[in-house]
Amino acid sequence: MKIKQLFKDKKLVFSFEIFPPKPDYPVETIYDTIEELSVLNPDYISVTYGAGGSVNNNRTCQLSHFIKSRYGIESLAHLTCIGSSKEYIDSIIRELRDKDIYNILALRGDIGNIGIGEFNNSQELIQYIKESGNLGIAAACYPEGHIESKKDVDKDIRVLKLKEEAGADYFISQLFFDNSYFYDFLDKAKQKGIKGPIQAGVMPVINKKQIERVVSLCGAKLPNKFLRIMNKYEYDKLALRDAGIAFALEQIVDLASFGVDGIHLYTMNNPYIAKNISKNIEFILSSINRKSVI
Ligand code: FAD
Repeated sequence: MKIKQLFKDKKLVFSFEIFPPKPDYPVETIYDTIEELSVLNPDYISVTYGAGGSVNNNRTCQLSHFIKSRYGIESLAHLTCIGSSKEYIDSIIRELRDKDIYNILALRGDIGNIGIGEFNNSQELIQYIKESGNLGIAAACYPEGHIESKKDVDKDIRVLKLKEEAGADYFISQLFFDNSYFYDFLDKAKQKGIKGPIQAGVMPVINKKQIERVVSLCGAKLPNKFLRIMNKYEYDKLALRDAGIAFALEQIVDLASFGVDGIHLYTMNNPYIAKNISKNIEFILSSINRKSVI
């Protein structure tokens, strides 16, 4: 099934993101996590991908296949094009099809030490996947602006429009901690004529190191309310974890009430987090998605 269909069937799509274990750990080390996530009934699970053809990438295909074949949950395989040839991308698409995976999150990937390769940006990858036929395509978006755009959200919205025109069915946002950025972004996207659903990316923060890393990578702004939690519970691991989950829950309830198309939960392979979030929003999800009987 193409994931875009889920947005037609449901008012609020709820999904998880996981990442494959590092190459020096057996792939099976994540199986228990997937098992625990699967019982929480997400609409789909996405699996990240290492840029530039890292050895870990066949694990993205492998785990996407595992999720779908073992638990019957739709999966979304991330795919970056930076540093890749068309031939290499062809081989990944072939492998995904062979493994019955028909949904791809098409990304450029971060520019590090890797050369550009045969694709300059995600639109070129989206178009390439689209031309290969019969695949559902998601793309990324950045409510606070992509870090290279220097917070120029208007420019990123123009790029988003190009992604949609190239063939993206829907979008998943970068994480954010202040919902007002996401709402402004939705307004701008609508004004620009973007029609595809936009899922809000939410990451419950459970330790200070994680937040420092995330902020340096994506530049998300931290509201004062959030900073107070960080400072108050910095040295109390469990309190910080639970306060981080509570903050994310508050964000999600507000997003759901606003009427967003979906929530994509960055689980960090941590079932405890996913379980606590899912358990607490179960009633909201079923109430929002309940079909009218009249
Ligand atoms: P693009 O859409 O190509 O945009 C990159 C930059 O180039 C932006 O600043 C954009 O404004 C600019 N740009 C693009 N096209 C044009 C144009 N035509 N003209 C002018 N400027 C342009 N990374 C991974 O390595 N693996 C993953 O699994 C992964 N998963 C992710 C999942 C989500 C939901 C998100 C939000 C990000 C993810 N990333 C992942 C990170 C992502 O690869 C980086 O943010 C990367 O720097 C940008 O990728 P993109 O597809 O958004 O790029």
